[in-house]
Amino acid sequence: MTDTCFSSLKLPASQLKNLNDLGYAQMTPIQQQSLPYVLAGKDVIAKAKTGSGKTAAFGIGLLEKLNVLSFACQALVLCPTRELASQVAEEIRRLARYQANVKVLTLCGGMPIGPQIGSLAHGAHIVVGTPGRIQDHLRKGTLVIDQVQTVVLDEADRMLDMGFYDAMLAILELTPPQRQTLLFSATYPEQIQEISGRFQNKPISVEVESVH
Ligand code: ADP
Ligand code: MG
Repeated sequence: MTDTCFSSLKLPASQLKNLNDLGYAQMTPIQQQSLPYVLAGKDVIAKAKTGSGKTAAFGIGLLEKLNVLSFACQALVLCPTRELASQVAEEIRRLARYQANVKVLTLCGGMPIGPQIGSLAHGAHIVVGTPGRIQDHLRKGTLVIDQVQTVVLDEADRMLDMGFYDAMLAILELTPPQRQTLLFSATYPEQIQEISGRFQNKPISVEVESVH
């Protein structure tokens, strides 16, 4: 039987306390199945529905790898919409409460680009955003992703629906080949399988049927 306690994972006591303070008593099924691999640095392709706790399934992992003494962007999370990106950024900030000085920045379209450029100039360890706006910053040179250790494609099938296929490919091409790539999607159309085949290294597949 799989252990459902966060304490079964190799996490610092400060993060275990934080999770406890957040009221996360047990791992959700997707967290149980994916976190051991995520923390081991493996690529994961995960099928799970909304509300299953996907953000912590990747957020806890990317936070463990972070070096806050470096100002480089070390984790990039791509989301289909501004609303989803904001929710993911908020959840990552909650998960990072025990770690000092972690900077999480959201970069989404439909927002003025000037303030985003200003924020990027101060450095961000984790960037969460929509593919179109991330590409705008990459073209301008205001965002550099050659030090990224973790790339997350969150709700990848919805990003396809939004027309972000080419943008996802172009962004992944600019990240280091040795990065960890975590792919979350409710469905697996051909283009998602293609992205996995091209950019993931021996991915572990996990699937959670229902939330309850
Ligand atoms: P998804 O991305 O799969 O839709 P979220 O990551 O947004 O799901 O999580 C859904 C909700 O569940 C959030 O409010 C989050 O704070 C909460 N949550 C996540 N993991 C746990 C857990 N282990 N225990 C209790 N609540 C959790
Ligand atoms: Mg989510």
